[in-house]
Amino acid sequence: MKKLKDDVWFVAAEMAPLVKVGGLGDVVGSLPKELIKFGMSVKVVIPSYKRLRFSDFIQLEELLPPGKVMFGEIPFDFGIRKARTKSGIPLILVEQEHFFGRDDIYGSHGGASAYKDNLWRYSLLAHASVYAMKMLGAPRIVHTHDWSGGIVPAVIRQVFGDEPKSRPGIILTIHNLGYQGVYPIDDFYDIGIDYRFNSSLAYEHFGTFNALKGGMLLSDVVTTVSPTYAREITGQDMGFGLDGELRRIRDNGRLYGILNGIDEEYWDPSTDKFLPERLKGKPKVKGKETYTLRDYGRWKEFKEKNKTALFSEIGVKPSSNGQGSRFPLLGVVSRLTEEKGIDLFIDSLFNWWDFPFCAVILGSGKDVIEKKAVYLSNQFKDRVYVKINSYDEAFAHKIYAASDVFVMPSRTEPCGLSQMISMRYGDVVIAGNTGGLHDTISDITIDEEKANGILIKHMDINGILWAMQKINKLFHSGVHWKRLVINSVNKDFDWSLPALKYKELYDKIKS
Ligand code: ADP
Repeated sequence: MKKLKDDVWFVAAEMAPLVKVGGLGDVVGSLPKELIKFGMSVKVVIPSYKRLRFSDFIQLEELLPPGKVMFGEIPFDFGIRKARTKSGIPLILVEQEHFFGRDDIYGSHGGASAYKDNLWRYSLLAHASVYAMKMLGAPRIVHTHDWSGGIVPAVIRQVFGDEPKSRPGIILTIHNLGYQGVYPIDDFYDIGIDYRFNSSLAYEHFGTFNALKGGMLLSDVVTTVSPTYAREITGQDMGFGLDGELRRIRDNGRLYGILNGIDEEYWDPSTDKFLPERLKGKPKVKGKETYTLRDYGRWKEFKEKNKTALFSEIGVKPSSNGQGSRFPLLGVVSRLTEEKGIDLFIDSLFNWWDFPFCAVILGSGKDVIEKKAVYLSNQFKDRVYVKINSYDEAFAHKIYAASDVFVMPSRTEPCGLSQMISMRYGDVVIAGNTGGLHDTISDITIDEEKANGILIKHMDINGILWAMQKINKLFHSGVHWKRLVINSVNKDFDWSLPALKYKELYDKIKS
């Protein structure tokens, strides 16, 4: 019987809600669902991590005959199991105890201390996914992600050939150019790919092995997760050493920026099961400006109730600023890294001892930033609460719902999902003027009527302090604040539009 071709296979290291470290997980969790709604047949290949095996979110299905790959002289066996998420998305799980039977995904501290053999782990994922394609029939398109998906294009080419007609079309999405999978060049010979790929037109980069570079150059199309980031990464400042290659890809018409969406059914303040209080009244209508200033009361009630519940959960008492009005609550849900500017945010609070805010910070990451955050909360026990935890979904939802202001002072931000989620929950965002933040936030200093937040042009402590002073005034300004909130909750971040753009791109690569 002739095998029917699937439209798209995703090959990815994360897929929310099964395994998620950051935005990549959210995208692989959401985009396939939307593509299936268009009638496309989609499968997602992911490693069978330890935490995934006992997940309530998947149903295991048939086990296929095992495969084997040679890494240098060492053979590695792997299993391929079909499965399905509870919401019906077909999965291919790659089982390999030595590589994937571990507690973490990329390593401890949300990947900040990466496993030393990550190149081997994700090379095995690449070989296993192509092995599964041979067994089940290759799809029309393979959509792979980040450096961890960077070996996939090489394995596809060596198994199916370089000719576009003989192999699936290949698309690689860069979720973060800062992580490239750089290893000693000798590691090249340990991951089972042809020696011809040891070239500056593939994985070799100034004497090192660069998984993302090769992945980009061997794909038909490269996308990244916002139009502004697609522009930024072709410049020297933000090209992380690959700007030359990215300019070439752009000039060949192969670089695209498609803004991510969020799963608006999952991130829905009127049904969110993690919240002590849900939004009452009319829910958001897709593609419509659902709310007017008259709806502000319901949003205020939603926020007040969630704020009271959060304060009582964490034992922080809402204070007043001497004039009898409340302090705005600043929320952060983020990796605690320099890239995210959290160091600057903490420093700015230290530099403003009488700051008229409360703050709740959730995240984990760099040791020094974690320590500084904890120190800050010890200094201001009644105003700042810090939870060091790389993944606390329930607490993240509660912060989004309770915060008046969401703070995202990123120095660089490919797309950013947190700002979109927080807007959906009625927060006003303070953010860096970069990447996807630039594409999703309308700055108050440009057009007050349309604004939904503040973009900081010069990301330093003074920039953050300037924005916080401004937001504090606005918070107490009545109609200005109402308009900011209503503009935020009216924003549309549904996945259907980006999914349509990806579908068009798939059709362009290979119809
Ligand atoms: P990143 O650069 O980390 O991918 P994004 O803003 O694109 O940043 O996506 C971050 C996602 O991870 C959001 O959905 C956010 O809610 C979630 N997140 C970040 N840190 C945590 C945490 N400690 N617990 C739960 N969710 C988190």
